[in-house]
Amino acid sequence: MRDENCIFCKIIAGEIPSNTIYEDDDFKVILDVSPASKGHALILPKNHVADIFTIDEDVAAKAMKLAKKLATHMKEVLHCDGFNILQNNGEVAGQTVFHFHMHLIPRYKNAKNDDMILWNHLEFTPEELAEIRDELK
Ligand code: 5GP
Ligand code: ZN
Repeated sequence: MRDENCIFCKIIAGEIPSNTIYEDDDFKVILDVSPASKGHALILPKNHVADIFTIDEDVAAKAMKLAKKLATHMKEVLHCDGFNILQNNGEVAGQTVFHFHMHLIPRYKNAKNDDMILWNHLEFTPEELAEIRDELK
């Protein structure tokens, strides 16, 4: 339920201050302390789980429903032009806090920090793609 060494568990318990924009029985939603844009927020499930692999699927479904609700609200209030919903799992994927969270990142045209979330595109042959498809089916 709680990990004593987890910073987000401490935030959820109110032991570390945060700017909370939403709270219910299952989630606390806080502003990111080091945001990518104005309004960048984090959906935190109240029960400690590390990632997508360990989160209860009903909680995951509720988190996505909440993301839709808050993205709609944030678009209305902040007048952002676009929106990223991002969720990192594992160090290699960019996760730095090992308590599941979803990033809500409003995006603005011509903003100072308007970097897109980009990656280099690899090239796979049609045969390689077919092999991966068969592996995953
Ligand atoms: P990750 O890289 O794990 O997907 O995202 C972790 C996020 O948590 C980062 O964007 C980071 O700025 C944010 N963060 C880390 N520590 C704190 C904190 O103490 N308070 C808040 N509000 N955000 C934090
Ligand atoms: Zn935690």
